[in-house]
Amino acid sequence: MKDCSSPWTRRSFLAATLASFLPGKLAASNQAATVFQHRGYYLCFMRMPTFGLKVWREILDAVAEDGGNTVVLWMAGAFRSRKFPITWQWASDHANVKRDFGRDLIRHAHRRGIRILLGFTPFGYDGTNQVPLEKPHLKATGADGKPVASFGIGCWGWNLCPAQPESQAFMRDYIREMAFEFYPEADGLFIESSDYGICQCSRCGPRFFEQEFAFVREISNEVWNRRSEATVVVYPHYFSGARLRFAFAEATAAKQPFDPRWTLFFTPHSAALEPSLIARARSAWWWNEAPCRFDIANVRAGAQKARDSRCGGYLPSLECYSYVVSQTEFGEPWLVGKRQVPFGFGWLKEGENPYRTLPLRAIRLVYRELTGNPDLPDPELQARLGRRLFGAAWNRTHIEDLLTLFRIFNTDRDWSVPGALTTPGLVKDRADHGRLDAQRRATLRGQLAEVQSMAQRHRNPSRAEARELGRIAQWLVDQWPPEAQRILVG
Ligand SMILES: [Zn+2]
Repeated sequence: MKDCSSPWTRRSFLAATLASFLPGKLAASNQAATVFQHRGYYLCFMRMPTFGLKVWREILDAVAEDGGNTVVLWMAGAFRSRKFPITWQWASDHANVKRDFGRDLIRHAHRRGIRILLGFTPFGYDGTNQVPLEKPHLKATGADGKPVASFGIGCWGWNLCPAQPESQAFMRDYIREMAFEFYPEADGLFIESSDYGICQCSRCGPRFFEQEFAFVREISNEVWNRRSEATVVVYPHYFSGARLRFAFAEATAAKQPFDPRWTLFFTPHSAALEPSLIARARSAWWWNEAPCRFDIANVRAGAQKARDSRCGGYLPSLECYSYVVSQTEFGEPWLVGKRQVPFGFGWLKEGENPYRTLPLRAIRLVYRELTGNPDLPDPELQARLGRRLFGAAWNRTHIEDLLTLFRIFNTDRDWSVPGALTTPGLVKDRADHGRLDAQRRATLRGQLAEVQSMAQRHRNPSRAEARELGRIAQWLVDQWPPEAQRILVG
């Protein structure tokens, strides 16, 4: 049977080739057969310090292969700000802080038909949350009336109180510097409202998002004054008046006038879909974490939800981390002081690109196919995966083994916590502290048996891709010498 995805591939290749002949501007969007105008990924550039320009160019090439035309590149904290050096001291080992290649990267994106949106959080998260190291009086206030505790993923610090004029001035100057001085060729901003540490001081509290909005309104105007077609992505919290419940905080959305030039961003954990706002926006995009969790069912669910909600884009996370953990994150003290291993793929060298490994090629194909047709039946999706990854001689076992690896890499996983079977030291630490019950031990014993037989099965296959299945399985087996396996007994 003919490979059904080949017409798509030809169109995509043509678009990418055309784009490569027209440097200096966005030549052509990647012409994927898709229900979405905007396709691509949310990538935490700031938390991937080990990747230099070469790897980042490869990552954008991969996005183009996937039919992507838009990337959220979360930049704050990871460029060498001249005005606010405190924002990148935590990331002094970041390749872009050491040698600023962001502009080259944006040029490369444009050659590949990809628009780059610079990501940051107003008054919080990476970069911004370092400001209180120099200006502790700008810390947000918690529900108990005291300054908020530090928090972070990779970059630990404190949210700012947006009611303080000094905080507003910092945000304006910092983002102006990023967007207008460092990366003026970027295609716009991605303004990610904080889901943590909402300031509860007497001037914020229920009016927090009004305070945040003052900055968002002003920087949006400045961006559009410079380039009217620029994309500015915002969260719905400024317009709906809804009561918001985050994992870490509660707040009330503001009720400010909506400018139809904004693109809206919705997420399962912090921003519920709002049809009346979507109808008025330039575009609306849905996000979830499914691709970076190797979760095919939720890539499908995300694409269907985005389509059914009339979103013009589905831009899920495909982020991985490679920073050194400075404090206990997600309840795992064992990881402190260690460098994050992207996706838990410990067979890669530090700084090596994980996005071309078999599991990533597979989940990227899933994204490409399901943004093309969110209702593509599972057997057909698996057949396409089989043909593209393992060649004409693919069989059910290849797909079953791939799905087994997906499950293993996502077992007991969290944002900065790798899949359990990849990291025996972490599992031992859980066992030592009474956090490895009999069921978890049994699960891991079962997974170890699965990768042992998988490694045997694909020891000498003819196709390189199936050899990669065997190599990954063997790497997992090798992490568990007999003395390590004793953790799993009992
Ligand atoms: Zn405040």
